[in-house]
Amino acid sequence: MKVVLMGIQGAGKSTQGNLLAEKYGISYLSSGHIFRTMAQEKTPMGRYIKETMSSGALIPDERTLEIVEGYLDRPEYEAGYILDGFPRTPAQAEAFKNGLDAVLFLDISDKEALWRIAGRIMQGTEIRDDETLPAIRKRIDLFHEYTEPVIEYYRQKGLLEHIDGERDVQEIFNDICKRIEARLAEKQ
Ligand code: AMP
Repeated sequence: MKVVLMGIQGAGKSTQGNLLAEKYGISYLSSGHIFRTMAQEKTPMGRYIKETMSSGALIPDERTLEIVEGYLDRPEYEAGYILDGFPRTPAQAEAFKNGLDAVLFLDISDKEALWRIAGRIMQGTEIRDDETLPAIRKRIDLFHEYTEPVIEYYRQKGLLEHIDGERDVQEIFNDICKRIEARLAEKQ
């Protein structure tokens, strides 16, 4: 099973991704997590990634494709994967050749995303470099500019599932599982 999760920061992609990975026994991969790990390296590449991420900007497409596809070639992803944060630009979606079963768009409003992040900041939850308000605003803007066309691209391919992300975690999870299972049943 190959599934992509899309949505702005705070939409619940990693929560739902981890629940799905556990339920279906497949690996969860987050491109943001890959880049955050690389940003810790004390190399010119590590410093470049750290700087790019902290500003809320995107890593260039060619580099992103090479890195994420390199991960997906590993044996743990052979049986399938839940992919979070990639593809996120039209160029990435077009270059990413795969047999996706579904693309899940976890939809929350910009206002709700900002509330959720502000709530985490106020609770004193550990905040990442790219979770400052200016960086988050930039990421939300980039989402509308680059990632919304990707959602449209997958809608036209008949792969998109639009999920209301402003509900209880368990309710969203049940909804997602129902839709995935319906798609898998159709495939058989
Ligand atoms: P995320 O945790 O998915 O929001 O990703 C954190 C940061 O990693 C983003 O703000 C980008 O700088 C970088 N990043 C993650 N995925 C991608 C991608 N598919 N294309 C370009 N940059 C990415």
